[in-house]
Amino acid sequence: MKAGTLHMEIWRRLQEWRARLPHALLFSGERGLGKRDLAFAFAASLFCEAPRSEEGAACGECLACRWFFQGNHPDFRLLQPAALRAEAAENKKSGKAGEAEGEGDKERSTRAQQQITIDQVRELDEFLCVGAHRQKSRVILIHPAERLNREAANALLKMLEEPPPETVFLLVSSEPMRLAPTLRSRCQNLRLSPPPAAEGEAFLAAAGLRDAATWLALAGGVPFLAMQLAESTTEWQPLLTDALGRGDRLDALPVAARLEKSLKAVKGENPLPQFVDWTQKWLADINLAAQNLPVRFYLGERARIMALSKKSQPARLARFYRQLSRLRRESAHPLNLRLFLERFFLDYRALFLEEE
Ligand SMILES: [Zn+2]
Repeated sequence: MKAGTLHMEIWRRLQEWRARLPHALLFSGERGLGKRDLAFAFAASLFCEAPRSEEGAACGECLACRWFFQGNHPDFRLLQPAALRAEAAENKKSGKAGEAEGEGDKERSTRAQQQITIDQVRELDEFLCVGAHRQKSRVILIHPAERLNREAANALLKMLEEPPPETVFLLVSSEPMRLAPTLRSRCQNLRLSPPPAAEGEAFLAAAGLRDAATWLALAGGVPFLAMQLAESTTEWQPLLTDALGRGDRLDALPVAARLEKSLKAVKGENPLPQFVDWTQKWLADINLAAQNLPVRFYLGERARIMALSKKSQPARLARFYRQLSRLRRESAHPLNLRLFLERFFLDYRALFLEEE
């Protein structure tokens, strides 16, 4: 289990709590930090019958571990939206992630399937009224907890108000502020933050990622995001970096056309917010370079960023940065992607041109 090695400090705190475990824990923090993996690793360590002595991690070999890692430990329940469960099963079957969904699937992927429903919470009643099978705790992992719909959250709150004995609820959320405050206040909060760079790099290198430092910087220090970026096969990211690197020599209209094509080829999540985010990181690096400070995100592009920093003015960069923040909010539904991109690249190029 790798997760324990990423957030060691929190892991140690969790292990210390084992003697007097809170009824509910909330693992919060931005996407890509490995919160869910950490919660799973903790659940496994609670069940394990021969935990590794040093850090309390599950052995992975005892009967309890085998049950848990095969997904059928009788004292464990995972509550997640039906859509996520279907996705996981599909990925397991096809052996890959991010497959395009068929038309039928899309129709079935209703609002309810994106939520954790009250029926799922009610099903816990039966689970909770029988004693734990292995004389250890029962663990209920809820992920992503912000997807509990209102009824489900109320039902869960009732459970937490009269906590069942020998039971721990592990809630995992990237958006804890979307949870009802009453629910949040019943949980012991564990806030994860990006690990120190060296720790993140070591983790990624151990996972077999090349250029770990570069990807980690680009991902703002968030390890699983770095992995996702490195593994992503979309072509728009290198195209964008290349376009930004051209500065005043950027041929805005053909580049906009090419980017439009590759952005439209993206399946699933709308890539525009990330597009804007990457551009803002690029601008932040130019800003750093202008002050003779080392770049933070685009480690591999230091030379081009240095050159651009000599041609730009901080005030214009700042204005464009703010303009992008506005675009980011509107980018969920751009009316015309091509026009959006053309304006974007023309405005960007103008940052490096002499003012008329
Ligand atoms: Zn074990």
